[in-house]
Amino acid sequence: MVGTNTAPRCAVVTGGARGIGAAIVRELGARGVHVVVVDVDDQALKACEAEERPAGSSVRCVKADVSQEADWRRVLELARSAFGPVGVLVNNAGISPKRDGKKIPASEMPLEEWHQVLAVNLTGAFIGSKLVFPDMRDMGWGRIVNIASQAARTGARVAGVHYGASKAGLLGLTRTLAYEYGPYGVTVNAVTPGRILTPMALGVDDHVNQTFLADIPIGRLGTPEDMASVVGFLASDEAGFVTGATIDANGGSYMG
Ligand code: NAP
Repeated sequence: MVGTNTAPRCAVVTGGARGIGAAIVRELGARGVHVVVVDVDDQALKACEAEERPAGSSVRCVKADVSQEADWRRVLELARSAFGPVGVLVNNAGISPKRDGKKIPASEMPLEEWHQVLAVNLTGAFIGSKLVFPDMRDMGWGRIVNIASQAARTGARVAGVHYGASKAGLLGLTRTLAYEYGPYGVTVNAVTPGRILTPMALGVDDHVNQTFLADIPIGRLGTPEDMASVVGFLASDEAGFVTGATIDANGGSYMG
């Protein structure tokens, strides 16, 4: 279970309408948590709304852009009025723009695109973590999980420099917030997925994923469910002594 009898049972999951985020929503639902799903993908949001949920867990799907503070305020208002104070925040939304399925070289990257990726992947997590804190502080309990990437550890081979920098930034955000929020019973952790089979990872040539596979001792690419179970643990009461940590969930392709 996430939370105790007195602890919160409301989570916000960004980028939660598909891929890794959708699996996280299912995992939290199975643990009896109500979830507000934030996404910008209309089709995925529709599918998310239509999905059957386990008894005892409800899901609200909201179209909102995590890079916009006004959108965050709207999302949190909705979450509080639907389910009460927010106890779990999973900053999962992320983008990795490519050109014809290939990374854009740093020397050719438009500054606008750099700003856009940083705004979604890093600033979005900052805004959410900032605005949700009063709920968690008042309850004396909270869990923030930031979905970074193995690229934060190794540098990005397939994604652009904006992506690699934004994900490395998430690890700094995680550790710094862990210091600030820890005294209030709020943990802040990061997960660094390796290669996970989602639309994002399938947006490149197949040989790229085959190359990744060759470096994975476990012998397969990851699934969204592999990531969701790690997040489920970090969001639970049982993980109360884990904070500022980076959990490498990659089948062994990078061992820190
Ligand atoms: P995904 O399949 O592309 O799903 C991400 C979802 O987030 C999409 O529905 C996307 O909508 C949405 N989104 C994009 N920008 C948003 C915004 N500004 N506000 C709200 N939602 C937004 O990605 P995924 O593979 O599940 O990845 C989830 C997270 O894991 C990302 O942070 C990613 O960087 C990280 N990750 C993934 C892998 C992997 O191999 N898949 C590896 C390492 C890390 P649109 O479709 O409209 O963009």
